[in-house]
Amino acid sequence: MSEVNCLYCGKKIAEDLAECPHCGGVSHYQKRGYRAGARARFVLFFIAVTVFCLFFIFWLPR
Ligand SMILES: [Zn+2]
Repeated sequence: MSEVNCLYCGKKIAEDLAECPHCGGVSHYQKRGYRAGARARFVLFFIAVTVFCLFFIFWLPR
């Protein structure tokens, strides 16, 4: 486990912490968490938009 400097207070914190234990600031170094969930939601949103477009291409009267 490596350590990084907190962006807000400058103290050393563990790289995988979501928040700085010294000042409570959000860590920008975390590798997991909201980013993975946001990516999955984006893929689902993209698929939904694609299906929506296909519906209008094939099922609407021309
Ligand atoms: Zn801090």
